[in-house]
Amino acid sequence: MDEKRLFRNPDLAKRIAEKISKLAPRDEPVKICHVCGTHEWTITHFGIRNMLPPTVEVIAGPGCPVCIVPASEIDEAVKIAEKDVTITCFGDMLRVPGSAMSLLDAKAKGADVRIIYSAGDAVKMAKKSRDRELVFFAIGFETTAPSTAVEMLSSPPRNLSFLVSHRVIPPAMKLLAEMKDLSLNGFIAPGHVSTVIGLEPYEVFPQEYGLPTVVAGFEPLDVLFGVYTILKQINEGKPRLENEYSRVVRREGNVKAQKLMKQVFSVADGKWRGLGTIAFSKLVLREEFTAYDARVKHEVRIAEGVDSHPGCMCHLIIVGKSKPNECPLFLKACRPEKPVGACMVGTEGTCRIWAKTINRQSRVIE
Ligand code: SF4
Repeated sequence: MDEKRLFRNPDLAKRIAEKISKLAPRDEPVKICHVCGTHEWTITHFGIRNMLPPTVEVIAGPGCPVCIVPASEIDEAVKIAEKDVTITCFGDMLRVPGSAMSLLDAKAKGADVRIIYSAGDAVKMAKKSRDRELVFFAIGFETTAPSTAVEMLSSPPRNLSFLVSHRVIPPAMKLLAEMKDLSLNGFIAPGHVSTVIGLEPYEVFPQEYGLPTVVAGFEPLDVLFGVYTILKQINEGKPRLENEYSRVVRREGNVKAQKLMKQVFSVADGKWRGLGTIAFSKLVLREEFTAYDARVKHEVRIAEGVDSHPGCMCHLIIVGKSKPNECPLFLKACRPEKPVGACMVGTEGTCRIWAKTINRQSRVIE
């Protein structure tokens, strides 16, 4: 049996779900948070929440790299585009709302905004158009930051600069762990990010916050087993860090990628949409790369933006305090084809995932 079929096996899923039910508390509910858009897709698409007992809740934290980019940084990209500079970005970024407009709105008004699939595409494009200024809008977590670092270290053409909006995940998890009104009982740590950063950055959660933490993969059985492992730890009263995704994630992570990131970026306090400023959560270019810093080169720096628009509950969705169907705009004024908030834009956005799969829940593992 291939790996995909094995990790989607309905009989095994039912057996793990039964074990979860046996471990689930009778009264006091347990709240487990994941911080990855792909986990949310798996959980929603395969109807995993429907397989859990009512006292076990899995909520979606800030795992969508597009949703958490604050409006002020979209505004910076728009402002640069208005200076007749070509903006290159991943497709999902186009419709993320800024304070007054998105990059798609700017494009409709004549700005040159191009969709690319990698940082390398931006470099190639800049090499082909040496007489034009280009900016690569670099977003994403530890999974995409190394590829930005690789291009930065390869002497990119001087007509290309980088609007860096990369963020790192563990500081956001710390913020969630400290939120009294969220009252978390455990974390499912993100598989993709963990392939890069390894396990050590999560040790703090069981050790200092007493939260069981399990690195999990993206198939339904990975997630179910992650939930089971967390409940087991809670029942034993021994919170610890476990790696359920050991077929991919190594304890030390990807050391080469970590080194590349350290060469190019330092860490600073950074704003996250819906979360405010989080200490040491934003990657910024080191001084030796200032010539490639789009904020310096094109003289833009916007401190404040409007992250939430009237009626939109993205600030609550991003931290898992609300569910998409609790937003009055969900599938009414806000739909995948016409998003109002950032969580409805990207493929990893919780509202978009719910909107796209809401009628299909629980059909696959049954
Ligand atoms: S449904 Fe739309 S407006 Fe409501 S929280 Fe989600 S993205 Fe924001």
